[in-house]
Amino acid sequence: MSKKGKERGILKMRKEEKGITLVALIITIVVMLILVAVSVNVIVNSDLIGHAEKTGDAYRNAIAKEEAYNPSIGNGKTLEDYMKDAKIVEEVHNWKVNGDKFTCTCDLCKAHANGDSSNGLTVEIGQEIKYKAERDTTGAITTTITAAMSGHTENQTISLTAEPTYVVMGVADINENGTNETLLLTITKPEVKVTLKGAAAYNNGPTEINRMCRELYGKDARGMTIEDVNNCLGYINPKGIYYDKSGNEQTANNLTTKLSSLPIWNDIKNNHQTPDGRNTEAALGEYPLDGYHYSISSTEATEARKNLILASDTGYWLASRGVNAHAGFGYTGFGPGAVRVGKANSNYGAFSSVGREGEGGDELGLRPVVSLTSQIPEVVGI
Ligand SMILES: [Zn+2]
Repeated sequence: MSKKGKERGILKMRKEEKGITLVALIITIVVMLILVAVSVNVIVNSDLIGHAEKTGDAYRNAIAKEEAYNPSIGNGKTLEDYMKDAKIVEEVHNWKVNGDKFTCTCDLCKAHANGDSSNGLTVEIGQEIKYKAERDTTGAITTTITAAMSGHTENQTISLTAEPTYVVMGVADINENGTNETLLLTITKPEVKVTLKGAAAYNNGPTEINRMCRELYGKDARGMTIEDVNNCLGYINPKGIYYDKSGNEQTANNLTTKLSSLPIWNDIKNNHQTPDGRNTEAALGEYPLDGYHYSISSTEATEARKNLILASDTGYWLASRGVNAHAGFGYTGFGPGAVRVGKANSNYGAFSSVGREGEGGDELGLRPVVSLTSQIPEVVGI
């Protein structure tokens, strides 16, 4: 082969090589186009971009929520605040009632100075407890009720001259969880008196009695209610009392029967002055007949219970109220409750629908009830 022939051969070879490369390139491009087409198809069919967009949105939302989160929303407290305020819950009492005795065998009572490491602590109706009220103020202990709130002609300021003596009155399931966790104390006799009269006595009596008891006897105190009296004396299922035209005592089945539903409604509806001042027949008819009264015979309650609740010679207001009715006189009576001359009254005459106000004995004592839920102070007389 000549030199030129050789060169031609090489050139041809190169041309042939070039030709293969081009074909390969075209094939590669075709393959890539197919791959792209397939990939696009896959992306479109699987909504991959949609998924990516949604994931992005979820991420952005999470960030936004994180940034918007404020632990103090709603109650102004952070978790740290709650932890700071948290107290270790003390042992819960569970007083078992046996006649006039109450026994608790919780660890707190077993460890009590007057308790017993196996039998716990036993207290008794009328037994003294060395309770001393937590007070906001020092010095003279006084409270005032305005004329407007009492119905009396002038403001009344009453004061305690000495620390009261507290005695056991009962036990109660204050939070209604089935456990008698609360020891109830009262004083032996009312120490201060207050006058309550007329519509104001019915309207404001229970609230004002509770307030005055708190101010005089400390923040754990409130006024005694007809329910306290009933519980201590064992008086169950009270019924509203009314009198028919002949003056015979009748009862309504429960304490929620409205006056307008009574058989004597026609006899009482014409005298329709009401303590709320509406003074209409319709307004009178809405009041429930929840007034009743009773005394207790010697077989119904122990002497200790009767002495504690009924034997006080002065009488005292109750921080609860009621309504009763008398067909013969055509009147409806409204008042705070009171215990007086050995009788418990869920309403004691203060206002009448015929306009008679402040019936006798309107200056009566205040009698506090103190609830002790945890530490029991020293017991006297064990
Ligand atoms: Zn206990």
